[in-house]
Amino acid sequence: MNPTHVHQLISNKAMEGVLRKEAREKKAHENVTRDFNKLQKKLRHEVGRAIEDFGMIEAGDKVMVCLSGGADSYTMLDILQQLQKRAPISFELVVVNLDQKQPGFPEHVLPEYLEQAQLEYHILEQDTYSVVTEIIPEGKTMCGLCSRLRRGILYTFAKRNGFTKIALGHHRDDIIETLFLNMFYGGKLKSMPPKLLSDDGENIVIRPLAYCKEKDIKQYAGHKEFPIIPCALCGSQDNLQRQVIKDMLQDWDRNHPGRIETIFSSMQTIVPSHLADNDTYDFKGIVSKTKHD
Ligand code: SF4
Repeated sequence: MNPTHVHQLISNKAMEGVLRKEAREKKAHENVTRDFNKLQKKLRHEVGRAIEDFGMIEAGDKVMVCLSGGADSYTMLDILQQLQKRAPISFELVVVNLDQKQPGFPEHVLPEYLEQAQLEYHILEQDTYSVVTEIIPEGKTMCGLCSRLRRGILYTFAKRNGFTKIALGHHRDDIIETLFLNMFYGGKLKSMPPKLLSDDGENIVIRPLAYCKEKDIKQYAGHKEFPIIPCALCGSQDNLQRQVIKDMLQDWDRNHPGRIETIFSSMQTIVPSHLADNDTYDFKGIVSKTKHD
């Protein structure tokens, strides 16, 4: 064969290889985009359903969206923005972050993200880190006190600034974990509700991610490449009790698919007459319809 033909044959083969590789990459990219669009639609649907089911947002609401810098709160904000654009009613979203002065907190990250997303926001600065580290002995978990202080500051800010709702990024798995935490360690059948009136009756807290799975949120946040700030800068020990429950639920999810979904739906189907709480059901008042002589 003429050397020019051989050379031509090799170039054609090489070109075919390149084209095949490009086609494979294009297909893989299309699959990733399709999966992402599906996930985004699913999250939007679940958040929309939770808002509807619990009457979370009404026309004219001024919603304070609490952004910690974790995957959950970024996802909540992102999905709420999408729903705001499509909603038939008009409501406001204002982002609030509390900088608790943990050592190494990257102060520039959230303002940069929020400026670029063209969102109205406030960064509150309160050194709760010093308060917590002074009160809690070294090596003990600080999360309980830290969260209580954070909540107090956010509630006060919401009241002073006329926010009608406070949106927090807790999801379905947080809600189920809290249910078991309260049962196992607190002796109470209660959890984090999707909508809550604060103890003083002045703030309404909503959890728009109440129907969303943690693993979907993590996947979504990873795809969107949110600039995540870890909630462990303070060096606090992991909350051991919560970790025990988390492990138990993950184990169930692996070995008994569907169990987590069933637990959540049982939280929405309560039968007080088949439990044992005299305050929620009048057991003493039970009378038979049969007349006995
Ligand atoms: S990990 Fe640190 S910042 Fe996060 S809740 Fe616990 S104590 Fe607070």
